[in-house]
Amino acid sequence: MARIIEIDDFITVGSLAELLALPASRLIADLLKNGVLVTVNEKIDFDTAEIIVGDLELDVQLARKSQSKTPTPVREKRQPSDQATLRPPVVALMGHVDHGKTSLLDAIRETEAVKGEAGGITQHLSAFQVKHGGRLLTLLDTPGHEAFAALREHSARLTDVAIIVIAADDGIKPQTLEAIRFARSNGVKMIVAANKIDKPGADINRLKQQLSENQLMPEDWGGDTIVMPVSAKTKDGISELLDMVLLVADVEELKADRDGPAEGIVIEAHQEHGRGPVAVGLIEHGTLKPGDFVVAGSTWGKVRNLESTTGQPIASAGPATPVLMTGFKALPEFGQEFEVVKDEKIARHRSAQAAQTSLRSNTGNMSGSELLRIISQTNKVNELKVVIKADVQGSLTSVIDSLKTLDTEEVAVRIVSSGVGVISENDIHTAATAGAIIYGFHSELPSHIKRLATRDHVSVRLFNVIYELIDDVKKELETLLSPEIIEEVLGRLKVKGIFKTTKSETIAGGELTAGKLSLPALARLKRGKQLLAEDLEVTNLKKGPQDTKEVVAGEMCGLSLSTSAKLDITQDDTLEFYRRETKTRTL
Ligand code: GDP
Repeated sequence: MARIIEIDDFITVGSLAELLALPASRLIADLLKNGVLVTVNEKIDFDTAEIIVGDLELDVQLARKSQSKTPTPVREKRQPSDQATLRPPVVALMGHVDHGKTSLLDAIRETEAVKGEAGGITQHLSAFQVKHGGRLLTLLDTPGHEAFAALREHSARLTDVAIIVIAADDGIKPQTLEAIRFARSNGVKMIVAANKIDKPGADINRLKQQLSENQLMPEDWGGDTIVMPVSAKTKDGISELLDMVLLVADVEELKADRDGPAEGIVIEAHQEHGRGPVAVGLIEHGTLKPGDFVVAGSTWGKVRNLESTTGQPIASAGPATPVLMTGFKALPEFGQEFEVVKDEKIARHRSAQAAQTSLRSNTGNMSGSELLRIISQTNKVNELKVVIKADVQGSLTSVIDSLKTLDTEEVAVRIVSSGVGVISENDIHTAATAGAIIYGFHSELPSHIKRLATRDHVSVRLFNVIYELIDDVKKELETLLSPEIIEEVLGRLKVKGIFKTTKSETIAGGELTAGKLSLPALARLKRGKQLLAEDLEVTNLKKGPQDTKEVVAGEMCGLSLSTSAKLDITQDDTLEFYRRETKTRTL
């Protein structure tokens, strides 16, 4: 009989190795094979441990010591109200590494990209939408190496249908089982895509046999598991697969509330040159609009740009829509819930509270140096994470030494890993997990590794001249500097009359006493020295009854101001006009 070893819900790789009487390196290698990148001191969850132990074919069975630990709190799935309307299904592709998740996603993206949108090329983001048979589907593109635990925590709430991708020439593998277990335990509907049917070795019957042995009896064998034969290569069966996804979704009657402030989950976050933190969120309920105040854990922002995943600016986004947004003060975390709050004050307050809670809860079993790192992060040192590869040790040392000179009080380079030789699969995994850029100095990038890098959204940059490499790192660091805001003063107006004040608009007239006014412009309302309101957008400018482009000092004009509350404005108040520009800073 198998030996039973009891472990907690989470265990470090080192401790598990000890319990199994195996070298930790063996476990690490096996985890890596399964797409989980960990070090000896890192924790894996019970399910991951179970799979690995199963893989090793030891005569050992793992049992859970206690169920007492509460998992990371996640908001309960909200029940839609009576006003809820149908929403697109959210679909995730899961499966064993190399069984063709990425190829299938690419095939779907290519054949079904939302047509009719200008520049309909989908950006490579962690989610995208396609239109099939006149209906929208949202697909999640979670990188294959994402740790199981993270996936389970965050994707379960998001996913309606899981397409379990199994290569028909290879059959069920450990990660396939994990994907099946994931879908089952979270009540996610499953469709099996039997991929690579174009290959001579493909054997659908053998696959169905394996499925039936795992309590997944295929429909044509009398069960209820849908098996769709496809080929990502020839695109055979893709359309039928999507038909089936929609059919399954229809049975589920997926609904969500469109009205009200948006709530959702951050599924990607990265820094972008000139745009600062860019987050991709998937909306669960409500509608998100530019100008909304969004809180995501310990960070917040006012949504500046809202874009579809094809890069088009959009005016609003409803349930099950993936959107790209800018305006966050710092990078939100993957898997973080976000919600729209009423105003900036609440946003600041909520995020500060979240930061304190996470600092408190994180300090429990943390080493002094980790604590210091977190505290220094709170002190706003933005780090650029890099992996450095060089041809020989000497050049590696000089690259590292040069990079150290770039740190400032605001930004710093953090080398998450470095080494000598060609860029390897391991480097890609490390970089993807850490969110790092790989810099190669006289180092090579084999083509199969390049493909991995593209798949996992890892940027690899090769240089043969050291100062060009350093320059590139410097440019990246500069994107982490918060942009400088420059205010250009345009002019001043004395209010002579008010024609209309509502909650959203004020129309007033007066004399421009200084400067020149043209649109776009913002206004500040002052009574004597007292500031009554600012950042009011001037939406219209008139000289007499005619719209005008420009008013100069000494002229009378009328103007409309866009407001968020009724403005307290009277005769003789002053309006100061200005324009704001953000300018990227340099080191
Ligand atoms: P992932 O690790 O699951 O994302 O798998 P990939 O999409 O990277 O595919 C792994 C390998 O299988 C690649 O070399 C693909 O070209 C190949 N592949 C994927 N789908 C098919 C298919 O339908 N037919 C054939 N012949 N090869 C495929």
